[in-house]
Amino acid sequence: MRGGKGQFWRAHMAVRRIRQLGDPILRVRCTPVEDPKSPAVRLLSDDLRDTLRQARKKYDFGRALAAPQIGAPVRVVLVEVGKFRATMINPEITDVGAEDFHVWDDCFSFPSLLVRVNRAYRATLRYIDLKGNVNTMDLEGPMAELLQHELDHLDGILALDQPIGLDPFAFRPEWEKNHKPTERYGPPRPREV
Ligand SMILES: [Zn+2]
Repeated sequence: MRGGKGQFWRAHMAVRRIRQLGDPILRVRCTPVEDPKSPAVRLLSDDLRDTLRQARKKYDFGRALAAPQIGAPVRVVLVEVGKFRATMINPEITDVGAEDFHVWDDCFSFPSLLVRVNRAYRATLRYIDLKGNVNTMDLEGPMAELLQHELDHLDGILALDQPIGLDPFAFRPEWEKNHKPTERYGPPRPREV
């Protein structure tokens, strides 16, 4: 390879197209990963990371990406929230708390739209990492709703399928005109059954 390190790096970046609403792959029930330590999973994880970072620069939001969003119908999610980074293989929510909250949700697969959805306020997550270790996390608030959103992707479910209340859709610029950023999340409330 000629050129400096920068060129070498760029040559190995793999930013993939994020599949958009209407693409049938977003509706597939994804298959579990059999070998979390395989090179294929490592490559997929790298592509998810590169694609997420590029998308975040373009849209100025985004904390995670699910494999089907870049065309790979397998159960892998990449999360980058502040300093927390994880490739989550075969993730599962094993428990949820007794409270829900409302979230104005967004998604790279329909980036201009916000949807009000209902999510569990607390959840327990289990996943396998790239080393093959099983991890468990207790999630609350924004992290809880994020992982519920991403795990839904692995079952072909989108935020758009779960609107709550009156007038649950808003284009992003309209939402921003009419709400404060803090209104993205409602308070935790006992679950309505
Ligand atoms: Zn999404």
